[in-house]
Amino acid sequence: MTVSDWTERYQGAVMNTFGTPQGVLVRGEGAYVWDADGTKYLDLLGGIAVNALGHGHPAILDAVTQQLGTLGHISNFFTSKPQVELAEKLLDLIGHEGRVFFTNSGTEANEAAFKATRRTGRTRIVVAEGSFHGRTMGALALTSKEAYRAPFEPLPGDVSWVPYGDTAALEAAVDDTVAAVLLEPIQGEAGVVVPPDGYLQAAREITSKQGALLWLDEVQTGMGRSGAWFAHTESGIVPDLVTVAKGLGGGIPIGACIALGDAGQLLQPGNHGTTFGGNPVATAAALAVIATIESDGLLDNARKIGDIFRDGLASHPLVAETTGRGLLVGVVLTEPVTADVQKAALAAGLIINNATPTRLRLAPPLILTVEQAEGAVATLTQILDEVMA
Ligand SMILES: *Cc1c(COP(=O)(O)O)cnc(C)c1O
Repeated sequence: MTVSDWTERYQGAVMNTFGTPQGVLVRGEGAYVWDADGTKYLDLLGGIAVNALGHGHPAILDAVTQQLGTLGHISNFFTSKPQVELAEKLLDLIGHEGRVFFTNSGTEANEAAFKATRRTGRTRIVVAEGSFHGRTMGALALTSKEAYRAPFEPLPGDVSWVPYGDTAALEAAVDDTVAAVLLEPIQGEAGVVVPPDGYLQAAREITSKQGALLWLDEVQTGMGRSGAWFAHTESGIVPDLVTVAKGLGGGIPIGACIALGDAGQLLQPGNHGTTFGGNPVATAAALAVIATIESDGLLDNARKIGDIFRDGLASHPLVAETTGRGLLVGVVLTEPVTADVQKAALAAGLIINNATPTRLRLAPPLILTVEQAEGAVATLTQILDEVMA
């Protein structure tokens, strides 16, 4: 069975929500994946910021296998050791007291946070233009792209939009009727958009002054992706709600809504629930991912390797600027040709993402080596030359 055979079967059986797949992948190892025709690719997207340890990492395999052989699933009438340990570990990494609610995805982590904000007695949420928070009805209501939202209105309401990174606009939008301000520390789906210095601190001041919650969506930026455990850490602020998912389980589906301080008491028995969220296998996988990031120095590696991409591509004439932190890398082009670059990169054996017509996004495994990064920069430089010519 070739790539084209599988693609045809896909189209006959799988719902057409994603368009035609770019390929049919059959195997992965480290930072590489192989397709059904045997072609090898360097994965510079990592399942969209998910495969923090790359593909087939023994630490995840061992943790999942051992946990599944011991205790695979229980109801949330009970708890398990890895669930408690992971909750404690996340609070430890974030450095503050709180309470954690586990989910299976990013959008569900945001649903939990959204419901928590309603328990403040206020309903209004202030969200940034360019934001992406997920596809379920609640998270979708907080997602900026009109084309995603319009077919599904009415969505849960009382949402105000502000330009991302604009402190004055935020200050003007937030009064004492606002339940929460929701921001990504770096906007991922918008193409790795970094706000001006001081923006998150200003958001913290503004929300505190008005008695509103500060909710940071770190589904893409969190769990080491930025070169720190959380992208907001360098701003020195303490948010009320932090949502994580993508990299948390290294490919095993898991998300979390981390509520700090008093926010940890907003959801009470009967307010929320999940069958699979926080299951022993998923939480064991996440513990293994975190332990490996710690033992292998992958936060440092993410910063070092991310800079190789940013520094290596910044001076190309087709590149306006490179953005991001750690291994969340944006490459902003001077022309709207990212679709051509993405296609050419795939043909050259590199998986990258054209987040917008002018913004490429890279989110490779945190285990990527200097040699792999330098090789990819050389290939991408050549591709940019060709696309420009
Ligand atoms: C991907 C993403 C989500 C949604 O996560 P899913 O697991 O796809 O539901 C939410 N917020 C941000 C910032 C994301 O990047």
